[in-house]
Amino acid sequence: MINYLYQEQNWQSQLSDLITDPFELLDQLEICSDALLSGAILASKSFKLRVPRAFVGKMRKGDPLDPLLLQVLPHHLELEEHPEFVTDPLGEEAANQLPGVLHKYQSRFLLTLTGACAVHCRYCFRRHFPYQENLPKQDDWPQIKAYIEQNPHINEVILSGGDPLTLSNRKLKLWIERLESLQQVKILRIHSRVPVVIPQRLDTELLEILKSTRLRIIVVIHANHAAELDDQTCAYLEKLSQHGITALNQAVLLKGVNDDAQTLIELSQRLFDARVMPYYLHVLDKVKGAQHFDLSGSKIDEIYHDILAGLPGYLVPKLVREIAGEKNKTPLFGKLTF
Ligand SMILES: *Cc1c(COP(=O)(O)O)cnc(C)c1O
Ligand code: SF4
Repeated sequence: MINYLYQEQNWQSQLSDLITDPFELLDQLEICSDALLSGAILASKSFKLRVPRAFVGKMRKGDPLDPLLLQVLPHHLELEEHPEFVTDPLGEEAANQLPGVLHKYQSRFLLTLTGACAVHCRYCFRRHFPYQENLPKQDDWPQIKAYIEQNPHINEVILSGGDPLTLSNRKLKLWIERLESLQQVKILRIHSRVPVVIPQRLDTELLEILKSTRLRIIVVIHANHAAELDDQTCAYLEKLSQHGITALNQAVLLKGVNDDAQTLIELSQRLFDARVMPYYLHVLDKVKGAQHFDLSGSKIDEIYHDILAGLPGYLVPKLVREIAGEKNKTPLFGKLTF
């Protein structure tokens, strides 16, 4: 098993040895299809293929419809134009207050410290976001500090993506020390897909850093399917709660990946095994290139009703959509929003 080979490698070497070549990915999975390969090569020109080998190890060999593969393999359908699917569906460029700062909701804001991700998710709403022009520079901290102080409602900072857990422990520690020096900041939230795609990222050093700060730490991981959470991954995820960290999951509802209630019920149950609570189930953002993952409102409604019936309340993720200009994520259940 590919997985076994990477089990013992540290996260830094896994991160520097990602699969970026569509041919290599399909070859590893023993999938032989010229159509898939040529589509992948074309679509990867605008948003590159990027996937850790350990994540590929969780995919089924020989199955072009594997739900993990569909999340990362570039597809020719991404190139189709659709008027509703645009490059900045959430109007984030307009909400950018300072380099790296995205403040839309009252008590909390997103701080982007890197544009890099360990994996490129094809449905990502940030796939067209101009990160590199928009990261804080080494000496931008005084400006960010002043911004927080001018906004007394802020009590939580969210490290977001890119993926903050692609940063070194040293850099994360530096930012945690900066943020905890401000008394008004009580909570640090880390949104990351790395614990799912390279679980070894949750190393002892990082866990100790997160345990030793005054700040309350929340780690929001991102898994869309129970197959992403094998035993080894769950063992690492469990370390979060063992270190006093609140662990939550956000998922995106994706056609072909997790668009049936049973799959989502199993995801919630598996998360709970790893002591991670389901938080959000996002409806797909209408980003250019992701239209083939979209589901109809009535289908979403049906799936969500079945999840509600199939799970205890505490394992039901909140169904939400992000609407540009709103003061919070918009809950969809029970609303005639579709
Ligand atoms: C999603 C998001 C948050 C966090 O929202 P919660 O509902 O607190 O999880 C904060 N800021 C922005 C810009 C977001 O998109
Ligand atoms: S920001 Fe998150 S969803 Fe988007 S590509 Fe990176 S890891 Fe995937």
